[in-house]
Amino acid sequence: MKLSVLSAPIATMALLFGLLLLPSVDAADPSLVINGKLTQGSLIRGQVPKGSEVRLNGQKLTVNRQGKFVMGFEREAETSHTLTIVTPDGETHTRTLNISKRDYDIQRIDGLDQNMVSPPKAVLERIRNDSARVARARSGTRNYDAVFTRFSWPAEGPITGVYGSQRILNGEPKRPHYGVDVGGPVGTPIVAPTSGIVTLAEDLYYSGNTVILDHGMGVFSTFLHLDTMTVTVGDKLEKGEQLGTLGATGRATGPHLDWRLNLGPMRLDPQLLVTDGE
Ligand SMILES: [Zn+2]
Repeated sequence: MKLSVLSAPIATMALLFGLLLLPSVDAADPSLVINGKLTQGSLIRGQVPKGSEVRLNGQKLTVNRQGKFVMGFEREAETSHTLTIVTPDGETHTRTLNISKRDYDIQRIDGLDQNMVSPPKAVLERIRNDSARVARARSGTRNYDAVFTRFSWPAEGPITGVYGSQRILNGEPKRPHYGVDVGGPVGTPIVAPTSGIVTLAEDLYYSGNTVILDHGMGVFSTFLHLDTMTVTVGDKLEKGEQLGTLGATGRATGPHLDWRLNLGPMRLDPQLLVTDGE
């Protein structure tokens, strides 16, 4: 697109529109469009000219046929990253991505059943088995582009827990919380935040009734502590289709939905997708 051939009002509108939708776009560099907030825990969706190659800190990213790709920045991601784009005509564009740091909450929860804080030996094998099943359900990169559509909340309710907070359970510091918790009564419908294919639907020790959805390009949503699950592995859900109901199964202090977002093994913040997406 050449701005010089557009009339001034259209150019201004296009610029404003671009700024509104895509706050982190470098207007001078037409080869890259970025959707998402450049901050720790963020899933970023990007677009480059079709046929381009994209590297993040030297590592090649998967780019689909439309030139779309995803990248993630973990909870404690470094603040400076280098994105290199080689367009089909051989031109190389280099961009420095500055990732803002976040402050995370510390949350203390006391009075939990000690067996859930430090699991008894008898269930260690089950927990190991659960982790392997979850890892398998979140592996692979299906060529499916639901991830590039807009995400909505999977349940309506107050946010009772946020990404990145550190939990101290019965005085023992645990690994950070990686989901966003939505409170509500048992039985509240849980729906697909955007379309996805079910890769796991089963009862796990920690997370209770758990559903995993594959949104494509290695991006997965996980829904924990469900009361009921109304889908099975292989089901393809449209955005807004119900997958179960809110509950308190597994290690839960009360009824809530814990929604997780993964890019492969990388744990990202789902809340950023619904508040800062598109
Ligand atoms: Zn949670």
